Formats: sequence, C-alpha cells, structure tokens
Amino acid sequence: MSLPYLPTFVDDFFRCTGRFPSDPALVFPDQTVTYAELLALVQGIRDGIDSEVPINERRIAVHATQDVFTYAAILAILASGRAYVPLNPHNPAQRNGSCLTQADVATLFQSGAETEISQWVLQQRLPVRIVNLRTIPSNPSERMPTPVRETDMAYLLFTSGSTGNPKGVPIYHGNLRRFMKALLSETGFEFRQTDRFLQMFDLTFDLSIMCYAAPLALGAACHVVTGPGAGFLDVAKTLQRGKISVALMVPSVLSFLESYLDEIDLPDMRYSLFCGEALPALLAEKWQGCIPSARLFNVYGPTEATIFCSIYELNSPLGSSGEYQGVVSIGVPMPGTVFSIISETGDCVAPGEKGELVISGAQVTDQYWRNPEKTLAAFTARSGEAPAYRTGDIAFAAEGNYYYCGRADYQLKVDGYRIEAGEIEHHARALTGVRNVALVGQAEANGRVKLHLFLEASDIDQEALRITCKTHLAGKLPSYMLPQRIHVLDFFPLNQNGKVDRKALISGVHQE
Ligand code: AMP
Repeated sequence: MSLPYLPTFVDDFFRCTGRFPSDPALVFPDQTVTYAELLALVQGIRDGIDSEVPINERRIAVHATQDVFTYAAILAILASGRAYVPLNPHNPAQRNGSCLTQADVATLFQSGAETEISQWVLQQRLPVRIVNLRTIPSNPSERMPTPVRETDMAYLLFTSGSTGNPKGVPIYHGNLRRFMKALLSETGFEFRQTDRFLQMFDLTFDLSIMCYAAPLALGAACHVVTGPGAGFLDVAKTLQRGKISVALMVPSVLSFLESYLDEIDLPDMRYSLFCGEALPALLAEKWQGCIPSARLFNVYGPTEATIFCSIYELNSPLGSSGEYQGVVSIGVPMPGTVFSIISETGDCVAPGEKGELVISGAQVTDQYWRNPEKTLAAFTARSGEAPAYRTGDIAFAAEGNYYYCGRADYQLKVDGYRIEAGEIEHHARALTGVRNVALVGQAEANGRVKLHLFLEASDIDQEALRITCKTHLAGKLPSYMLPQRIHVLDFFPLNQNGKVDRKALISGVHQE
C-alpha cells in the first residue's frame, strides 16, 4: 500500500500566490518580488525541469546565492517533487565538488553563466548539466505542485564531517511537514500574513528554511540579508529598515552588536528567536530592551532533527528562571518530538542528571547520506519506532525544561556554523613535516569562538609552515572554518593518559 500524499509549504505558497498576488514575497535591498512575480519564475523553471530533467533524477544541486532566481529554483525543484542540494558559493570549489559528487546529481542550477563550481565541473569532466537560471523564460501558470509522500526527500544538506569530508543529511517531506505543522499551528506562535520575516542565513544552513518557508506559506514577506557573507552589520540594517516583525538569528549576532544595543530600537518586532548555539542569558536580557513588543525565544535543534525541535520562551507568563551557568534553557520538545538523556552506557539517566541528549520523533531523519558507518554511530532505529538521533550534546532536564551544558565531542560552533575539529585537522595533517595537529576553540570575552590550530613539527621553518598551512586550508575549507591563529610547536604537551593535552595547548597561548 502506498503512503498518502502530504501537503507541503510549497502548496501553501502556491495558494498564497492566488490570494495575495501583488504582496511582497521576497524583499532584497535593491528589489522587491511579489507573489505573482515569484510564481512566474518558479513555474518557468519547473517547466524546464519537467521537460529536461529525467523523472528518475530525484535531486538537483543549486549554487545557492542570495537572489530571486535561486529562491525560485528551490521552490521549483520542490514543486517538481524533487529534492534540492544547496552548494555554498563562499566554499572552495573542491569542497562543493565533494558535496556534488556525494549527492550524485546530474543537474546544477546557478544564477549566472559561470561560477567556480561550474568551472570545476567542466575541469573534472563530470557528467553534470549546468543550467543558467537567468536564461529560463518565466511562466505565470497556476499549475499546482506535484504531490509528494513523507518518504520523498525534500533537501540534502552537508555539514562538517570529522574525517575530512562533509557529510550529507537528507531531510524528507515527512520530517519537514512535522516541523512546519508544529511551528505554524501547534507551538503557540501567531504569525500573520502581514509579518515581515528576517532571512539572514546561508541557504546551506537549515535555519534558512524556516526563514523563507514560514513567510511564503502564510503570504508574508521574507526580507533577505545579502551583504558579503551576510555580515552581522547587514543583519542590523535589515532589522531596522525592513521593520522586521519575526526574526530567527544566531546568538553571535547579539555578541557582535553588544556595544550598539543601547542604540537599537525595534518596536515592530513581535517574535525574536535565537538558535544554533548557546544563548547567553545576560545578552538575551539586554536584547529585550531593544524589542519592547516582542516575545523572545531560545530554540534548539540539530540539522538531523529538521531546523529546530525544542523551544523556550524567556519571561513567559509561566515564569521560570530558565538558565544554567549563564546559558538560557533550550526548553521543551515541540509536539511530535521526544527528548531523552542517556548515560555513556546508553541507559536513561535519573531526572536532573546530565547525559547525552537523544532526539526521536517524526522530525528526525534516519541516516547520513550513503554513509552506513556514521549512520550506525549516530542513529538508532528500533523496528516500528521513529528513528532516534544521538546529538553529542550534553544536557539535563529539570522541572520540565531541558538545559544545554556543552558538547561531548570536538564539534564547535562559530557564529552558528557547525564545525568538526576533525575536518580542519584532517587537512592540516596532510602538510609535509607536520607530525600532529589539534584544533581548539577558545571563547572570547564577548562569547564568540576563535579557532586556534596547533601543528607539531620540529626542525622546520615555523613561519613558512604557518603561511603554507594558511594557504592550504583556504583552498579546502569555507572561510568560517579557517583558524584565526596557527601555532607551531616542537612537541605537544601530553596528559596523564598520553593524549594531547588540549587545555595545556590553549593555556600556552595565553602565556605567549
Ligand atoms: P546544526 O546542525 O548546525 O544546526 O547544529 C546543531 C548543534 O548546534 C546542536 O547539536 C547544538 O550543539 C547546537 N545548538 C543548536 N541550537 C542551540 C541552542 N539553542 N543552544 C545551545 N546549542 C545549540
């Protein structure tokens, strides 16, 4: 028996194009695109997909720049019943190439004639068709999207992988539908058609999906931040100029804006959400002064559990101090999601005890893309039950709320970007003369994390090695993964177990 068809946010968007054709759908600093205009672009691209892309090609890659053609392409791919695979234009071509090959796609959409990744595809003679979205004629038809089922993939995102290669996280329509339903009708958010949403994220970061999918499902406006690398100053400008009423941001924005907070006044803000990394309670308190009419939330979740899956409202009428060691609580799981805390042996811990947070429920995917080894290590799926994902986050529960206490492994967050120390170390280890490497994240006084890379190498020109390493990494990794400091040491300090003593490494930096 086949599964029933599932309504998606793209169906809602199509309906909104009929109801609010001349309302703004996407707002860029230099361009406003109405619902009718966006639909015409979407339908044009979709016609192209239907006529040119074979039916068995289920995934299409998109060089994900922040412009209307890219957003239209994503909607068109979804409307054609296929999944999109975004590639980050700020990443080195080789890294995007790894995602492209792993995703096993045969079509790449890009908003222009030539990009680094299309050059790479041509150089490598990959059998990938490159399509310039700007050359596709638009079509204002109202043909509805192709129906999808819960097991059809919606998108495939790549996150940092500890063994040097990015790893793919496939999210299915069933996962996305559960998130959208919880967000729009089960968690008490009362978003309106007249809202103006902020979209500050790279399209390769899943928080971007909430920021464009929620407004487009409601007929509201999505204001896209487009500065180079979506700088945080551009975020601040968009918040003010766009009179943003719903904003999902990473807490690093607040750290960056801390010294300007006294001057910021956002009376139109109704919902201010933070996600992606620990939210410092003091900063959140200061931010509240900038948003007098807003409700403030800390939300939490990994890519594997679709965008976010728990919420905590600060200063909610229910009242609760809601912080642990200066970090705001991650609250309660959203409807359809279940949290449990397990010990190192995999048993559930007693209430209040710390352990690893495991997430299960309909928002959780069941695998890493074509990677059975990593899948086995992180996912458990008992037969007949929804998959459960071991987050690597240490947490505990108290009085109904969950509290984030840090990581069990070497995963780091820099400005909200997820980084595996192992991925940076893998590339540094390839350098001639380097015996050992260690990457250590160090929180600065303002809460932002600085990356220190340590190289163990003796009898070598240390300055020359530092420079070679910098250039080598710049060709392999996205800019947010590049270490701010590279230190070369003759020998690494070891702890009692003979392992590299990372604490001693970083404390040595302070004595330098
Ligand atoms: P990503 O897959 O990039 O969304 O990263 C997921 C990871 O970000 C989680 O496993 C946490 O380590 C961290 N994270 C996300 N949201 C929060 C939050 N509200 N508080 C603390 N850490 C968070």
